[in-house]
Amino acid sequence: MGSSMGTGSGSRSHSRSQSHHRGRSRTPKLYKLPQLSTVRPIPHISAATPRPFAERKNALANEFLIELDTRVCKGELTKAAAAKDGIKITWSTRMKRVAGKATWNRSNKSPWIKLSTRLLTDETRLRTVLTHEFCHLTTQGLSHEFKNPHGKTFMEWGEKCEKAFGIKVTTYHNYNVDFK
Ligand SMILES: [Zn+2]
Repeated sequence: MGSSMGTGSGSRSHSRSQSHHRGRSRTPKLYKLPQLSTVRPIPHISAATPRPFAERKNALANEFLIELDTRVCKGELTKAAAAKDGIKITWSTRMKRVAGKATWNRSNKSPWIKLSTRLLTDETRLRTVLTHEFCHLTTQGLSHEFKNPHGKTFMEWGEKCEKAFGIKVTTYHNYNVDFK
């Protein structure tokens, strides 16, 4: 059956009827104020526009790392890193295939997490990859496992993260996480 096309009766004469100003069809009575319930909010002014992700991502990364540390290992990672001048989070525009890298230096240098500017373009990805990198730091810095980066110890930390945040830690990703 053919679909019924328009009957062609509409002449679209109403195309200019959108801008209906508050008509003053009657003589305004100045003493009569509108009731509060009839005053409509103006949504585009009352809703604050969120800052772009690119501007917020570094703060988000640092905040989430602290949240991970607090809830997964009671602040132990931060404590251990304090002797090494804290954990450094940096962003790289060169990382095109790898979303994140992390290393807990055995020397006194700061442990670091490096994140890909190109691949981490939203908060969900940032959290997922940061959680993975967090597990590298706990595996090395707290469990002192340096030989097997994605081994049993790493996965145990991953399970703790999943319990606390519902973020599944895997050793593979759609957007390739590190393999350090
Ligand atoms: Zn990894």
